[in-house]
Amino acid sequence: MESDNLTMDLNTGSGFVYRLGVGRSDMSAYITSLVDRALSDRRAAQPQRDYLGASRIGEPCERRLGFELTGVPVDDGREPTGRLLRIFDAGHVYENLSIGWLRLAGFDLRTHRRDGKQFGFSIASGRIRGHIDGVVVNGPSLGMPFPLLWEHKSASARSWTEFVKKGLEQWRPVYWVQAHLYMAYMELPHCLFTVVNKDTQELHHQLFPFDASVAQALSDKAVRVLLAAENNELPPRIAASPDFYLCRFCPYATRCWETAA
Ligand code: SF4
Repeated sequence: MESDNLTMDLNTGSGFVYRLGVGRSDMSAYITSLVDRALSDRRAAQPQRDYLGASRIGEPCERRLGFELTGVPVDDGREPTGRLLRIFDAGHVYENLSIGWLRLAGFDLRTHRRDGKQFGFSIASGRIRGHIDGVVVNGPSLGMPFPLLWEHKSASARSWTEFVKKGLEQWRPVYWVQAHLYMAYMELPHCLFTVVNKDTQELHHQLFPFDASVAQALSDKAVRVLLAAENNELPPRIAASPDFYLCRFCPYATRCWETAA
């Protein structure tokens, strides 16, 4: 079909969409960009944290934690992508699925208090706060030491297989230390850590006891970051060069390395 200087290919597979007049791939990218924008706007509308999230204290670099705590903006172009924000949302969906599956299997898994709020803690005059995924207070008699802190993650097949093979401490040390901090502040001596395989829906659970030395080291680190922020100081960098692998993925890298040490 031709009209003046416009040629439209109406053959099957051309990607032309009747009345819209744009190729399918253009339309798809446009719709996704609208979703990405909406997700970014939703994120931007959330109140800025003025506390150290307990889920972040396991982050290896104290300087990065200092940036996060004091609300320093990330480098230009380093905001989370729409895809990453969708991954976060998908994580909540998988978590709800796992909660339902464990309850169906007879585990008394509590995720919210009677007033509807998540279980959590607030310490250091509210400068450190955290929320836990849940507490398993009872369940099938497997000799499990109830009550248990319950934490959950979802992972790709490759990553999930690594978790099964190596265990939590080796697989994701950040989650390992985070779980210990939660056990300490929630006074729960054991943790059940569940990871669902996002590709196959396989489940794997690791049960482990509290290790006070892990929690203490993390608590000491949180105090150092808080004290630095109170004194308007930057905590030390984790590396001597911006080529360090953590720095290459850090959204504060430009700001960090342009600032005097
Ligand atoms: S660039 Fe490296 S040293 Fe600087 S805040 Fe990020 S991780 Fe830490």
